[in-house]
Amino acid sequence: MQNTFNFSAGPAMLPAEVMQQAQEELINWQDLGTSVMEVSHRGKPFIEVAEQAESDLRELLSIPSDYSVLFMHGGGRGQFSAVPLNIAGQNELSQHLVTGQWSVAAEEEARRFCQTQIIATSKEHEGKMYVPKQDEWTIAEESAYFHYCTNETVDGIEIDWVPRSTSGNVPVVADMSSNILSKPLNIEDYGLIYAGAQKNIGPSGLSLVIVRNELLGKERRDTPSIFNYGLQAKSGSMYNTPPTFSWYLAGLVFKWLKAQGGLSKMAETNLQKSQLLYSRIDESGFYNNNVRQDYRSKMNVTFKLRDESLNDSFLKQAEENGLVALKGHRSVGGMRASIYNAMPISGAQALVDFMKEFERKNG
Ligand SMILES: *Cc1c(COP(=O)(O)O)cnc(C)c1O
Repeated sequence: MQNTFNFSAGPAMLPAEVMQQAQEELINWQDLGTSVMEVSHRGKPFIEVAEQAESDLRELLSIPSDYSVLFMHGGGRGQFSAVPLNIAGQNELSQHLVTGQWSVAAEEEARRFCQTQIIATSKEHEGKMYVPKQDEWTIAEESAYFHYCTNETVDGIEIDWVPRSTSGNVPVVADMSSNILSKPLNIEDYGLIYAGAQKNIGPSGLSLVIVRNELLGKERRDTPSIFNYGLQAKSGSMYNTPPTFSWYLAGLVFKWLKAQGGLSKMAETNLQKSQLLYSRIDESGFYNNNVRQDYRSKMNVTFKLRDESLNDSFLKQAEENGLVALKGHRSVGGMRASIYNAMPISGAQALVDFMKEFERKNG
């Protein structure tokens, strides 16, 4: 088992040490004779876990005190609906940067609740995808919010700069489902950040929202209570039963991240892993990646074999070598190696070695 490296895009692998600890305390947690899954979310033991997780997350991301952290249900897509319901009126405008499948889906969902507008999209130049810089487009000052996705999980496009309106007053909303906690952030650049947990935080079922307090309490009347940011902030994300096991496990991941040296250390390792893979792709005439250097994702490395008839044998032989879940998203084909925080450098190296050997035999 320990010779398997899981490159799944999500739900994705979790740190081995975290899984080990979760296993050890699964049926007898804190000597209570029960699992953490079987206790009240309002009891002292769980409240302590919940509060510790929030404070560790605040420390990791340096979240200022005028931001709330919410542990919600509904995944990333839940937030596609919750964001417009909470911070835009029906006749208000949300502006969108569209750079791949997830930002497309976020705009489509927001359209049900407010007036949306796509103000810029990713483009292709000489076969490489890139995102036009802000000297080519502007965020309208009357927008209720501006939305973009910092890392397009399917397409492998990551944006390392933060868009902003000229005045800086339009709240920037970022879907960080697949790159949150992969590097340090300046939280104050954002009005709201959200992320489904199953890529880089913990098990599915949980979504994290980090929101500037001044955006709370603006929800539409018909906002479902469980999606109401203000209400969830007031009730410590316990208006209803939260996904307790996911919250607990996310807490273990936050502790693990601190023990690794925090997010600057993660950024360093993530860069190293992705560079290993991109160098392998670039030095071969056998593999190809279609994203411009400065937008290549450090989390989801997408690539195609020049001879696509070899796809099945690539995947089969990779699996025989313990390298699993490398098949690209069904909509784009090819391969995708997701290398979130939990993927060790040895995993990226093992894939690089396999790619070299596969090319030698088939190139
Ligand atoms: C996975 C993902 C989502 C959707 O998450 P669900 O929890 O399945 O709703 C949204 N945005 C991004 C960037 C993702 O990677």
